[in-house]
Amino acid sequence: MSGAAFDAVVVGGGPAGATAAALLARAGHSVALVEKARHPRFHIGESLLPATMPLLERLGVLEEVRALGVRKRGADFTAADGRSQAITFAHVMRGSAAEGAVQVERARFDDLLFRRAVGCGAVPFEGATARVEGLAGEVRLVLKGADGGEVRLAARELIDASGRDGLLARHLDLRVADPNHQSAAVFGHYRGAGFREGEREGNISLYWFQHGWIWMIPLPDGVMSVGAVFPPACLKRREGPLDAFLEATLRMAPEVAARLEGARRLGPAHAASNYSYGASRMYGANWCLAGDAFAFVDPVFSSGVHFALQSAFFAADAVAARLGGERNVERRFADAERRVRRGLAAMSWLIHRFNEPAMRHLFLNRRDVLGIEAALLRLLAGDVFHRQGIDVRYALFKGIYGLARLGLRFDPAPEPPPQPARAG
Ligand SMILES: Cc1cc2nc3c(=O)[nH]c(=O)nc-3n(C[C@H](O)[C@H](O)[C@H](O)COP(=O)(O)OP(=O)(O)OC[C@H]3O[C@@H](n4cnc5c(N)ncnc54)[C@H](O)[C@@H]3O)c2cc1C
Repeated sequence: MSGAAFDAVVVGGGPAGATAAALLARAGHSVALVEKARHPRFHIGESLLPATMPLLERLGVLEEVRALGVRKRGADFTAADGRSQAITFAHVMRGSAAEGAVQVERARFDDLLFRRAVGCGAVPFEGATARVEGLAGEVRLVLKGADGGEVRLAARELIDASGRDGLLARHLDLRVADPNHQSAAVFGHYRGAGFREGEREGNISLYWFQHGWIWMIPLPDGVMSVGAVFPPACLKRREGPLDAFLEATLRMAPEVAARLEGARRLGPAHAASNYSYGASRMYGANWCLAGDAFAFVDPVFSSGVHFALQSAFFAADAVAARLGGERNVERRFADAERRVRRGLAAMSWLIHRFNEPAMRHLFLNRRDVLGIEAALLRLLAGDVFHRQGIDVRYALFKGIYGLARLGLRFDPAPEPPPQPARAG
């Protein structure tokens, strides 16, 4: 058993943790970066957003990320009846975001970010699971290795970026489930799936189906990530093994079934359930939450990694200021929390309505009035934290949605009630 003292310890070596550790180390602070797995390791969350590109640029990894991913110019949406629409982001974004985003294999992307943090001077502890021993005065953690050995760490600051595990949110009882939106997902990687062609080759494809929605994300080396999202009850009531459930569910959308014809799954199916939540607080006297450790919203608009990176930038900035003894640093943390919550709220409003007929109608029947569509595209591209020129138009879009919902703008054919999918 040995001990070490750092300015800051970051728990979680995913995108949020690696980013926060890289920024703090680059600013000259001593940082420990603790990760329970060993990179490269599998993770879901492969479709990035254009607004993330400038953040990767500031981290100094943009070109490397572009080199390991598939260029994503936009997204396409297909309804159960086959009607389809595609969106592109390029014309509404500026700088590195205007070139679109990237679809990445997370094992390689996360490894790259982790190595970047170490390259900036963060001290890595891989294969080490952190436990909180105390927060009074200083942060005290116990790290447990795979061999059962323990290491004790002390630090002035803790950034919890432990993702859905929510180390600190659980320790301090901060986690709040989102009562409006609970979902589950099953997913896997395939080889031999049908890719789109031309400009849409790197698009994420989203398909509405009877129980929710399905994604198809083209990855490097001819691999396609495919998964379905639906109410948790569907997963709970499943009969048979998860692999068969995944295959049966994906084939409920005819175009997905056609694109998977002859494709081979590369490994076992994975599942995630009941995953929308927030936290009652984002920071305390010597700690701060970043990424999924703070909040998670349904991934339909691929916003998770962007929130992870942006909240890590906010967290690193505020923690560095506190380490530097800045007066009124509380204001910096409060501002960070307010901005993250506002961004999450803007995205959540759309997410919570994605499966509703009125929203489907608006996505499939696009019309640009008063710049509303461009504003919406900027939100979907991840421009949720700065939003100059977006808010008024977004409010107008909500009004249009309200009208559509009242049935003034579309034929209100009743939707079939959701039934649990069965493997078979
Ligand atoms: C079905 C599904 C699909 C998704 N699709 C997308 C998508 O297309 N695009 C997108 O942007 N996002 C997507 N997401 C969301 C995305 O996966 C997350 O938002 C993102 O990974 C958050 O990054 P993070 O760094 O906060 O957490 P994570 O990436 O989860 O990293 C947390 C890390 O902490 C480590 N850890 C946990 N506990 C401890 C501990 N006690 N000690 C040490 N280490 C610990 C974990 O091993 C992990 O490596 C999806 C999520 C789901 C569930």
